[in-house]
Amino acid sequence: MCSIMASKLKTYLEDPFLSRLYGVIRRLPPLKSISVDLTHVCNIRCTGCYYFEQEMDAHVSPPDDEAFDALILGEKERGTNFVTIVGGEPSLSLPRLKKLYDNFSLSVATNGLKRIPREGFENLPLGVAVWGSHQTDRVLRGGGRLDVFKQALKNYRDDPRAFFYYTVAPGHAAEVATVVEECIQNGNRVLFNFYCDIKDLGGDYGYRNGFSPVISAIDAMIDRYPEWILLNSYFAGVITTGRLLSDRWGYETCTSISADNPVNADRIQNGKTYNRHFRAYNSDFTTTRRCCTGVDRDCDSCFDTWEHFSWVMLNMKKHLESKTLFTSWLTTTYLFYMINNLLDEPEDAALLPEIHRRTRGAGCV
Ligand code: SF4
Ligand code: SF4
Repeated sequence: MCSIMASKLKTYLEDPFLSRLYGVIRRLPPLKSISVDLTHVCNIRCTGCYYFEQEMDAHVSPPDDEAFDALILGEKERGTNFVTIVGGEPSLSLPRLKKLYDNFSLSVATNGLKRIPREGFENLPLGVAVWGSHQTDRVLRGGGRLDVFKQALKNYRDDPRAFFYYTVAPGHAAEVATVVEECIQNGNRVLFNFYCDIKDLGGDYGYRNGFSPVISAIDAMIDRYPEWILLNSYFAGVITTGRLLSDRWGYETCTSISADNPVNADRIQNGKTYNRHFRAYNSDFTTTRRCCTGVDRDCDSCFDTWEHFSWVMLNMKKHLESKTLFTSWLTTTYLFYMINNLLDEPEDAALLPEIHRRTRGAGCV
């Protein structure tokens, strides 16, 4: 870091709140992350699931334990300390999930239909998916019949491990308040995600409509329930506009590409930041693919919150231009650590209102 930037950072850290958050993060070991398709099967078929839409489950023969154990061993030797579980539904592969849990910090998303037990997974951070109101969720995830959201609420009521990972479609902003309030009444916090419409449904679901009404609805929830919302206003703006200062989101700037895969060789040469450790393992536990959520997917459809976390977190230097930007970077990064139970100290939910107060309205920088 150049001396001007170092001096700016020093000035920003005279603020006790920023100093506290920055100190907590800097005391932790650097993240060395990968993603793994834990399984290629699922008990539902959501409309627009990136995994099945790209037929990533095709031609996969169930791998044996030997391949899985070799993956764990190899990644431990490589220094990996954080694994995002992707692919099919992790609750259908508990013995392997347990092995990963015993060896790494994890980020897990589940559809919520089958409960992941507390026993053996006491501190597992769980993002429980919901894709809209009961009616919308039933259409998108339940084949028009099954109320997956209802079952997920029941399975994770007052479970301190679980937050709802709420994917909102562009034309469904009117549902946000009801869904959030139901999650909160259930004792669970809420992290937002944005519907990518990989199946190209268009209309209410089409990302080309933009997410402005959804952002307004999320901001209203931040104002009303700051201690329950895990996405700050700045970060919501980055994800939905695809803008991070002078950079635009897409393959050429994406940080979540498999660094070992030759398909990304040209991208890696373009000088843009990327996660040098990252690999997205397929469910054979041996090969990797282009990125966490894609083989040849159109990056214009990528509004995935987890990938954007990486984009912001790896671009700290860009955020040193002003205290407002640095605050946005720091609070976004802190939220990632908080959500994934990576903090040394117990999660301090009391910080959430101050995080939101400082980043409210910062989404358009
Ligand atoms: S629950 Fe997850 S893995 Fe299963 S179809 Fe839906 S999005 Fe895909
Ligand atoms: S689909 Fe998303 S995560 Fe994959 S390369 Fe494109 S922008 Fe990155």
